[in-house]
Amino acid sequence: MKKRIVFATGNENKMKEIRMIMADLGMDIVSMKEAGVDLDIVEDGMTFEENAEIKARAVSRVLTSDIVLADDSGLEIDYLDKAPGIYSARFAGEDTSYDIKNRILLDRMEGVPEEQRTARFVCAVAAVFPDGTVSTVRGTVEGKVAEESEGENGFGYDPIFYVPEYGCTTAQMTPEQKNEISHRGKALHEMREVLKKRFREEAL
Ligand code: IMP
Repeated sequence: MKKRIVFATGNENKMKEIRMIMADLGMDIVSMKEAGVDLDIVEDGMTFEENAEIKARAVSRVLTSDIVLADDSGLEIDYLDKAPGIYSARFAGEDTSYDIKNRILLDRMEGVPEEQRTARFVCAVAAVFPDGTVSTVRGTVEGKVAEESEGENGFGYDPIFYVPEYGCTTAQMTPEQKNEISHRGKALHEMREVLKKRFREEAL
């Protein structure tokens, strides 16, 4: 049976991005839903890498002959001891809107000088292989917490994440611009190289 890559997500945007980036591997890439898996996974790791591996392993236990990928991402603000970090989705409550989450963060950063507003988006991607081994990679994009929320594109913390090189927030970038610099794009590109190397070694 041809090996597949299963991505442990229910998010269609992530599926589009991974399909585009991994296209030249020549493998079928399916979401866990398309693979018929419906799991509620408790992400209780202490790092992005641990959480990505927890998700990938949970699905790999069901789909034992597939390569399973999962990601975990979030925003780290240095001045706030890297909060919201791995709790980015749950920050101030899972059901709280991002307008409110962003307002809370801007309030906590009020009066903090520019040089201390450093922040980054982080994305870890883990791949669990049928033999139980795991490879993990990390992609980041560096920026600063904006003074005010700006921009309508993107999602989540994009309106408060300012990228000095572009002179705007990630919510003011086009999707194409953001994909080029994004933490997830970088991590997925690196994972593609990890998979290619592994396939070359397996073919020897
Ligand atoms: P997850 O990795 O899908 O669980 O996402 C974690 C959370 O991190 C998201 O719900 C957002 O709050 C935040 N996040 C991750 N990537 C981005 C991004 O590119 N822009 C804005 N927020 C992000």
